[in-house]
Amino acid sequence: MNNFFKHIPGFRSDRTWKKVIAILYYIFSFAMLLSGDIGLFISFLGIPFLTFSLVDLTKAKKNNKPMKAAATTLIISLIATSVGFAMIEPEENDVAEKETPAAIEKVEEKTEEIKTKPEKPKEPEKPKKEQFEKVRDLKVHYIDVGQGDSILVQLPNGETALIDGGPESSSQTVLNYLKEQNVEKIDYLVATHPHEDHIGGLPIVIQNFEIGNIYMPDKTHTTKTFENLMSAIQNKGIKFKTPIAGDMLLDKEGLNLTVLAPETNINDDNLNNYSIVLKLNYKDNSFLFTGDAETEAEQNMLNGNYDLKSDILKVGHHGSYSSTTNKFLEKVNPEYAIISCGAENKYGYPHQAIIDKLEAKGIQIYRTDKDGTIIIAVDNEEIKIDFKKTAKPKKENAPPKEEKQSSYKNSQPNQSVNSNGESNKNSSNSGNTSSNGAVSKPKPPATDGVEEVYITNTGSKYHRGNCRHLKKSKIPISLKKAKSQGFTPCKVCGPPQ
Ligand SMILES: [Zn+2]
Ligand SMILES: [Zn+2]
Repeated sequence: MNNFFKHIPGFRSDRTWKKVIAILYYIFSFAMLLSGDIGLFISFLGIPFLTFSLVDLTKAKKNNKPMKAAATTLIISLIATSVGFAMIEPEENDVAEKETPAAIEKVEEKTEEIKTKPEKPKEPEKPKKEQFEKVRDLKVHYIDVGQGDSILVQLPNGETALIDGGPESSSQTVLNYLKEQNVEKIDYLVATHPHEDHIGGLPIVIQNFEIGNIYMPDKTHTTKTFENLMSAIQNKGIKFKTPIAGDMLLDKEGLNLTVLAPETNINDDNLNNYSIVLKLNYKDNSFLFTGDAETEAEQNMLNGNYDLKSDILKVGHHGSYSSTTNKFLEKVNPEYAIISCGAENKYGYPHQAIIDKLEAKGIQIYRTDKDGTIIIAVDNEEIKIDFKKTAKPKKENAPPKEEKQSSYKNSQPNQSVNSNGESNKNSSNSGNTSSNGAVSKPKPPATDGVEEVYITNTGSKYHRGNCRHLKKSKIPISLKKAKSQGFTPCKVCGPPQ
């Protein structure tokens, strides 16, 4: 027995203090074993054997004594200690988990954050069909293409329609705009009629995007522009369709796109009267896209007894007096009228008679020549209007006035978005550019009660003094009175509310 202890570190000499230290040390090691830490126990036990066998080995070599026993102990203790240490690593993690569950939770939270972050940018890219009925808006963009028409419709079911592509001179504008809006595929491409200001920009669009269906009226044209369009369609390997009044391009619950014109048997020299006219219904909101339909086409639509009532009318033929007859306007009865035309165009569009007619009915007018690209979004049945100025400098909307207004913006940070769709115009305090890059109009001062606003003798809106709707008549009235008489704020000049 004594012989056995001779080999245990701490008991090899008769010194009591060495034995006490050794006993304490071994008790500590066994405590590790009891706490479930086998690795630590083996390591602790191995270290003294390792140390003393190393000492023995050196002594034996020095004194030329047999080294076998010491070497064996050294190897065994070395292996044991290594194995012990190797076992410690995973056990330490276990301990951490048991002792600090909160810390682990935090780590998990963090990793989850990291996981979700790279996924986020994917969302706007993939607003796919199953998200119908979800928050994704219906967005209609009346793109500022100068003199012409081009309307991008982002449908709530994830599909995209493009009604006309503007003139050839704006084809790059249209292309860039579609790319900016992350358009990948155009499910419904409509060339309302073969005039250059409507189809000139389409070939480049057809070349650059995946195209679903192409719709054109059953009417050819002999221009180079029309030939370009036809060859672009051919190169894409698509056969175009020629829809007629009554057809439905899209019909889903709460969302449909109906063809209201042309009728089948038209005999007209005027290409405009072959225009494909579309009505888009989304829940309770409706848009009418008239192309260049003129009086005759409007009459056909009236005869056809279609439900023409629409919230937003794309005014026919760029606001020419040859369209928008009284009867037609009466039936459509829109709240907003969009005129797509070029600044100072040679045709004099929009004609004053049409502007007067719309204003007389209190219809809010937006024009691409003045407002730039007009974006109308329907969000939860609510119509929101936004503008995106084209990069080229414009003479209209004198900038000094707007700069002046922006100086009081910060003092009125609480003026919120109003309920009837003023949206981004007033919602941005961070300058004239709203979140999606649209130009928002500066906010008016909101010192309630005493301001003077202006009304016209026909309209139902009240305006600020500099509003262009006041060209015909300008009647000063106190804000309080205007509101009490049922006038609503103009969406162009954004008067106090
Ligand atoms: Zn046109
Ligand atoms: Zn035309």
